[in-house]
Amino acid sequence: MNMSGLEEHSISENIERVRERIERAAKKSGREAADIKIIAVTKTIDVQRIVKAIELGITDIGENRVQELCEKYDRININNIGIGFNWHMIGHLQTNKVKYIINKVHMIQSLDRVELAREIQKRAEKVNRILDVLVQVNVAREETKFGLFKEQVPEFVKILAGFKNIRVKGLMTIAPYAKDPEDVRHIFRELRKLLIDIKKENIDNIDMDYLSMGMSNDFEVAIEEGSNMVRIGTAIFGERTSI
Ligand SMILES: *Cc1c(COP(=O)(O)O)cnc(C)c1O
Repeated sequence: MNMSGLEEHSISENIERVRERIERAAKKSGREAADIKIIAVTKTIDVQRIVKAIELGITDIGENRVQELCEKYDRININNIGIGFNWHMIGHLQTNKVKYIINKVHMIQSLDRVELAREIQKRAEKVNRILDVLVQVNVAREETKFGLFKEQVPEFVKILAGFKNIRVKGLMTIAPYAKDPEDVRHIFRELRKLLIDIKKENIDNIDMDYLSMGMSNDFEVAIEEGSNMVRIGTAIFGERTSI
């Protein structure tokens, strides 16, 4: 199916609007928009729209399912579209599926258990690469969400420091849905505090460069609280028709 001119236009306008909003939120926290990375979340979004977003300057794409990522990876890559960009795995990752994405993704943002780290280490070593990861934290302790509880993170990070083919780059969280994003400001603040506490420990092989927090509904508040990586789907591509 071809994209209509109208849809093409709206992706471009949406990205423009997201960039303006990021700029405003960044200024509020004394930073530059350039310091905040946009991950365009493309689950359920077709290849044509993704390519359009990349042509409009999006450099990082986030998918939350292995199968969908692999199918799209075969169709969208630098050889096919002539533009380089990065894939991020942002959804729950089953241990037995690591092998399918180990050579495809730039970063895994959903590392939340030692068993998964062990498998990533094994597979990364096999293909001779060092994989960047974020540790997923369930700040709000929601039963329906994955991720470690805050108090588990420092010890987990120390364990990860021993995996030579894994490089920890920061923390990621998905805040509970809130109609008013002000209601989850404290979640973002807590994750930032955790990141700073871990940074202070100066653990070898552990960088705390990225705080991946903020989605379409709450990214401005997340940025005000220190996010430098926002994962945005709906605000770029419109409402998803299926999950
Ligand atoms: C879907 C998804 C997003 C983006 O959600 P929007 O509300 O559409 O911006 C961000 N992060 C994760 C992990 C997701 O699964």
